[in-house]
Amino acid sequence: MAGCKNCGNCCNHVAMEIDEPTCKKDYQEILWFLLHKDVKVFVDHDDEWYLEFYAPCEWRQDSKCINHERRPSICRNYSSEECVMNGEGDAEKLTFNTYDDFLAYLKKKKIDYKFKWQKGKI
Ligand code: SF4
Ligand code: SF4
Repeated sequence: MAGCKNCGNCCNHVAMEIDEPTCKKDYQEILWFLLHKDVKVFVDHDDEWYLEFYAPCEWRQDSKCINHERRPSICRNYSSEECVMNGEGDAEKLTFNTYDDFLAYLKKKKIDYKFKWQKGKI
């Protein structure tokens, strides 16, 4: 496993684990997330689902943390050895960057994601 590539990816976003969508309400919620700028949803290789916001950290400047000694514990505990950017192949199993990405996935999987009032509309 290679060391940190200093790509800055881990300082450019906030990612939160979410429940795997299993019902129409969940599918609609993910479609709504993805209508927002700089938001994506991805599934990692452990089948965990995440909501991610592209939001660069204010302490990241010129590819460096300007307050390295004061960085929060989540940064201190983050291991570049476990970093997805260091893995082989795709870092994410599934990536949805847009509403249309997720809609295509739902249609491909033949998942019923529409409430009655949406039939024939989306
Ligand atoms: S830990 Fe990973 S994401 Fe962060 S800078 Fe290093 S290689 Fe990039
Ligand atoms: S505090 Fe430093 S290490 Fe943590 S996300 Fe911000 S720039 Fe990166």
